[in-house]
Amino acid sequence: MKQTLDWQIATITHIKTETARAKSFTLALPNWMPHRAGQHYDLRLTAQDGYQVERSYSIASEPERAGQVDLTIEKIEDGEVSPYMHEVVVVGDQVEVRGPIGGYFVWDASMREPLLLIGGGSGVVPLMSMLRHRAAAHASAPTHLLYSSRALDDVIYYDELETLRAQMDGLKVFHTLTRSHPENWNGYTRRIDADMLREVAAPLGKNVRVFICGPTALVENAANGLVQIGIPASSVKTERFGPSGT
Ligand SMILES: Cc1cc2nc3c(=O)[nH]c(=O)nc-3n(C[C@H](O)[C@H](O)[C@H](O)COP(=O)(O)OP(=O)(O)OC[C@H]3O[C@@H](n4cnc5c(N)ncnc54)[C@H](O)[C@@H]3O)c2cc1C
Repeated sequence: MKQTLDWQIATITHIKTETARAKSFTLALPNWMPHRAGQHYDLRLTAQDGYQVERSYSIASEPERAGQVDLTIEKIEDGEVSPYMHEVVVVGDQVEVRGPIGGYFVWDASMREPLLLIGGGSGVVPLMSMLRHRAAAHASAPTHLLYSSRALDDVIYYDELETLRAQMDGLKVFHTLTRSHPENWNGYTRRIDADMLREVAAPLGKNVRVFICGPTALVENAANGLVQIGIPASSVKTERFGPSGT
């Protein structure tokens, strides 16, 4: 077990532009081990003068894919690590990582209860790992994803989510676009609220497992709203990405 927390040197083997602000990086890992969907890696950069900076990134890929993981990183304009990953790192570069880390915000396909996933922005990343794991394991637990983005162009994994949804295996995907939306858009167009939560959650019943990830305000709002509509707080797991207060 100890080896999972040792730093290892990963090689970037592929970079995919997901949206204008999000890129996915495939990391080949010499000491790969299967993760649980929802876990993350710590990534460490070291400057020539020895200055080090470390950030956490959720694993986007499914544990079934041996030897490598995908991380999807949203660029925070005035950040240290995410702009470096977006603007400087190229295929073939190496970065230090350790993981997989985390035992709370995790879902396994062996869990049979209905699943409700709520994400905002890059908060969809660990939820995508769960959906990819669900598909790879041919799990069919009824699953609803409610995903809040600013605009359609900001939706990460849009095409893949459409493909997964089209498999008709019990997955439903609900998008809400909070800032702008196409004229013919028939999804939600507002921030997550009680009515939306009721519509998305109610068909799954009360015995539902819930994972919420994103900016703090979205996470707290959604978690409180679910408790208000009768979902036990003990069924709701949350993970916050942004700085507190956002
Ligand atoms: C468990 C965990 C998993 C995470 N997984 C992911 C992931 O899969 N993808 C991903 O993109 N990020 C993820 N994050 C966030 C990530 O760790 C960094 O916080 C983020 O990339 C910003 O780092 P930075 O060095 O670029 O910015 P920093 O230098 O840390 O911050 C620069 C400025 O931006 C603000 N800021 C920091 N983060 C955010 C944010 N998320 N939104 C708005 N403002 C912010 C800071 O307060 C500061 O003012 C995760 C965080 C945690 C704790």
